[in-house]
Amino acid sequence: MLVLAASTGSLAFAWDAPGHRAITRIGIEQFREKVTDSGAGWMAEEDWSIQIADLATMPDRWRNIKSPFLAHLNNPDHYLDVEDLTELGLSLQTIEPLRHEFAAQLRLARDAHPGVGRQPNPKFDTAKTDAYPGFLPQAICENYAKLQSNFKTLRVLEKLNDPARKNEVQAVRMAVAMAMGSLSHFVGDCAQPLHTTRHHHGWVGENPNDYTTKKEIHAQIDAETLRKHNLGEDAIRARIKASPPDVDAPDPVNPWPAVIAHIERSHAQVEPLYQLEKSGDLWKAPGAAFISERLADGANFLGELYIAAWESSAPSDDDVAIFVKYDGFTPPPAPATSAPKQPR
Ligand SMILES: [Zn+2]
Repeated sequence: MLVLAASTGSLAFAWDAPGHRAITRIGIEQFREKVTDSGAGWMAEEDWSIQIADLATMPDRWRNIKSPFLAHLNNPDHYLDVEDLTELGLSLQTIEPLRHEFAAQLRLARDAHPGVGRQPNPKFDTAKTDAYPGFLPQAICENYAKLQSNFKTLRVLEKLNDPARKNEVQAVRMAVAMAMGSLSHFVGDCAQPLHTTRHHHGWVGENPNDYTTKKEIHAQIDAETLRKHNLGEDAIRARIKASPPDVDAPDPVNPWPAVIAHIERSHAQVEPLYQLEKSGDLWKAPGAAFISERLADGANFLGELYIAAWESSAPSDDDVAIFVKYDGFTPPPAPATSAPKQPR
């Protein structure tokens, strides 16, 4: 029975809002440099990049209510604990790209490895998320596809070029902005190494190198390092210019391999991050370079995904005809005006 009570899923934010906003704005900058079609011109207005950057913070804000319905859907989208896959005989190379297929694969793997891996605590796991290592790569690919679809709808409306549809165009621009924001959030989470590991709030289990077990390390990476080293948009731009991240352009039809590579790059930085924390270098120049590189990797990959989604969303004549057939558009009625009152 579903218990409609507070879910106590662990709070695993990645980057506080300033980090997510900075990644988004640089991703949009890269998109605008490459995509110069007039159809994307509306986004060049500064306000849209500010708004999209704010929308990128929404998936974390969805934790501000205690709903198991939303927590079950949303919380595991922010991470993937790669070590949990290994324990179950799975890997980044063998997990299913489609969400429900992955869930089924996990169930079979757990049945084959009784007592291994995550053991949900029924008292606290009201959102029933403990059994899952996370759905971060699926969330990225699903939000990418939503952006592709919203871009296509917008471009259909641009082809129709009907002034009477201006409200429709505005609504779809808002949908594009929301999809760009959501995609940015999960790409940004992925660039934070602690979102790819079971050691997300301090080292757990065997600890031969004596890494910190304190929960605070997560908040330190999310926010304190950015504040201490003054890392924002300028730092990301400088980092990309000085040393462009080695990111392959995603296949627009199947971004999964590129998303897995994004997770691998981040996961490879888990232990180096703990080493920086242990040595104290996290708060010195090596720490600033490390965090800048992670933010730049996220922003750069995001820009690549935005570009791929745009380039693969040009509508055909058939797309336009199908849209018109089912849209049933009629111009909205003019606002009612009341007749002036007659003086008595
Ligand atoms: Zn998140």
